[in-house]
Amino acid sequence: MNEEQVIIIGAGPCGLAAAIELQSIGLAPLVIEKRNVVHSITQYPINMHFFSSPELLEIADIPFTTANEKPSRLEALNYYRNVSLRRQVRIHAYETVKAVAALESGGFELHTMDRYGETIVYRAGTVIVATGYFDHPNRLGIPGEEMDKVSHFFHESHPYTGMRVAIIGGSNSAIDAALELERVGAQVTVVYRGASYSPSIKPWVRPSFESLVNKERIGMRFSSRIIEVGQRTVTIEGPPGTQLEHLPNDFVLAMTGFHPDRAFLISIGVTIEPEGYPTFNDSTMETNIPGVYLAGVVASRREANEIFIETGRFHGRKIAAHLMKLGQN
Ligand code: FAD
Ligand code: NAP
Repeated sequence: MNEEQVIIIGAGPCGLAAAIELQSIGLAPLVIEKRNVVHSITQYPINMHFFSSPELLEIADIPFTTANEKPSRLEALNYYRNVSLRRQVRIHAYETVKAVAALESGGFELHTMDRYGETIVYRAGTVIVATGYFDHPNRLGIPGEEMDKVSHFFHESHPYTGMRVAIIGGSNSAIDAALELERVGAQVTVVYRGASYSPSIKPWVRPSFESLVNKERIGMRFSSRIIEVGQRTVTIEGPPGTQLEHLPNDFVLAMTGFHPDRAFLISIGVTIEPEGYPTFNDSTMETNIPGVYLAGVVASRREANEIFIETGRFHGRKIAAHLMKLGQN
């Protein structure tokens, strides 16, 4: 049996920030990560630049300096990896937390599976869930969504050269992907349910996108939804009164955002509010299960856009303050 004071599930930026905050109050938390440090960022589009300036992504008071105004994906990987090494954060990588159960005697028992398929059992007084949302894209529930040509992730544009690509969604992932694809000669149509451009689009990106739409180099369908994906077409339902459009199509990128793993939270006993987000106390980040805390975007209330690294990096500070108050440091 492995005994730990605190186990943090997930080594994303917010899980790491929480680990370092707890170190600062004398704890030595163990972070268990199913892949490797900041795994979600490894999955971002390879040429992406963050919208945040680097100082807003800093954790552990370690400066994050970048060559340009906004950090690239690679710079962020370097930064968070170096912070975790410098601060000697204890990370068990390639180990997935499968179950967390409260013990009658107090504390929690965690069952994990390592990369060799072996089960490992831990006991911990406190558990911090920092599992993010990136594993759970918002699915559409439309016929054809399961086809290989449909993806909820966009990594790089090259494979789409010369292809007819429909992009679903109207926020940053959709717009960034559309711009990259247009540059490599794909025929892009963005299908967005909103009646006009989303206010979430980064203001410095929107003019380039609008200009390409105006020049008809990117197709834009507002107030529209793809209702079926076929082998060679997508069926688009437009505003009321318009006819269904059968658009020739090779690939679909469904850039429809993400949500936290509610089933995992429920399995721990965390309740889900009617609006769909987990119950927790804003000032401590403790859930309805005493001793179970949330850090990072797993605590997102309205879909996924209210918490991001800029804000989620401070959750660990609230948890540390609460543990100090309870005398658990
Ligand atoms: P994550 O980074 O998702 O980390 C969760 C970790 O938990 C993952 O490593 C995952 O592998 C692990 N995990 C999950 N389940 C388990 C399990 N059962 N057992 C063990 N490990 C598990 N935010 C900003 O502030 N500024 C930006 O400019 C910005 N740009 C973005 C660009 C893109 C393309 C995207 C998608 C997001 C962007 N965000 C930005 C949002 C930000 O990146 C995410 O909000 C951030 O990753 C959240 O950090 P996190 O630690 O909460 O979760
Ligand atoms: P998002 O902001 O949640 O946007 C999802 C989009 O899909 C929205 O336009 C939404 O419509 C639409 N949508 C959701 N469910 C749908 C459904 N069932 N049917 C049709 N459309 C649906 O997701 P995201 O763009 O992937 O962004 C996620 C996070 O990453 C955000 O924090 C974002 O800022 C960040 N991000 C940053 C960068 C960058 O910095 N470069 C790049 C990409 C993403 P509505 O608009 O109507 O809600």
